Amino acid sequence: MNGDEAPHGIRCSRAGCEADAIWWVHWRNPRIHGTDRVKVWLACDEHVDFLRDYLATRDFPVVVTAAGDTVERV
Ligand SMILES: [Zn+2]
Repeated sequence: MNGDEAPHGIRCSRAGCEADAIWWVHWRNPRIHGTDRVKVWLACDEHVDFLRDYLATRDFPVVVTAAGDTVERV
């Protein structure tokens, strides 16, 4: 993971949500990101499904892990 891709803070990435994130949602936009470029959203238990589905419905590759886990690629 590149340094600038590391998540900042521990808050859920869902707009308006102030819950602590316990999941990391790793994703990539295949049209603009190479396979070694992985973006990370942070998610609380309530919003992890929303964020994953948001990306999946756009046909973006997405992998959900426990917070703190990294993936080589998605
Ligand atoms: Zn949330």
